[in-house]
Amino acid sequence: MALTIAIDGPVGAGKSTIASMLAHSLGILHLDTGAMYRALALKALREGVDPRDAGAAEALCARTDIRVGLNNGGQRTFLDGEDVTGLIRTPEVSAAASAISLAAGVRRDMVLRQRRCAQQADMVVDGRDIGTRVLPDAAFKFFLTASPEIRARRRYDELRAHGVACDYAQVLRELIARDRQDTTRAVDPLRRAEDALEIDSSGMTQEQVVQTMLRVVKERKA
Ligand code: C5P
Repeated sequence: MALTIAIDGPVGAGKSTIASMLAHSLGILHLDTGAMYRALALKALREGVDPRDAGAAEALCARTDIRVGLNNGGQRTFLDGEDVTGLIRTPEVSAAASAISLAAGVRRDMVLRQRRCAQQADMVVDGRDIGTRVLPDAAFKFFLTASPEIRARRRYDELRAHGVACDYAQVLRELIARDRQDTTRAVDPLRRAEDALEIDSSGMTQEQVVQTMLRVVKERKA
């Protein structure tokens, strides 16, 4: 059985970066599941499909090919064969991804795709429902958090670094709205798995978070 390390947490907690660094340190792959919802959301926006219409979202998902190219240099995400890695980080896609991920049929489909992927090789998988739903038997589970203000600040800096014009107060408002949507949705809401180790990264550097995780993994393996 492949070794899996699940990292869940709210938006802006740094899951993807941390997961990528951890995978790199361990010499295993990293699967960013949020990118899969984002790719589907991008297609909905392009085709004028309302991401809040669960029926339409499920039908769209069923006819969509989403592939991820995993390597140590970072994940590339392919939507119906097109590399959309650079197109799925905008605020519009973020909001649409959060909305489209509410559809039960979309989640069912994504969970199956993610499980199939995780069976192939040892990997770090990050998302919202990895420890609770996608891989409940994961060997290691972490729940990464930070205060809303710090998460919004990080997201703001990241968007600015990518040349996206934005306003901190608005980033914070959108983050709180996404938190609410992710934690209160009917199907697989974001929550810490009972056996997950919670790490509050508010006062920590990324390197410190990764070192904490590496210690846990190595101690338990030893
Ligand atoms: O992590 P990221 O912000 O890229 O995820 C985009 C959206 O996809 C999230 O707001 C969340 O609603 C959804 N998502 C999810 N389950 C996952 C990963 C992401 O519902 N495993």
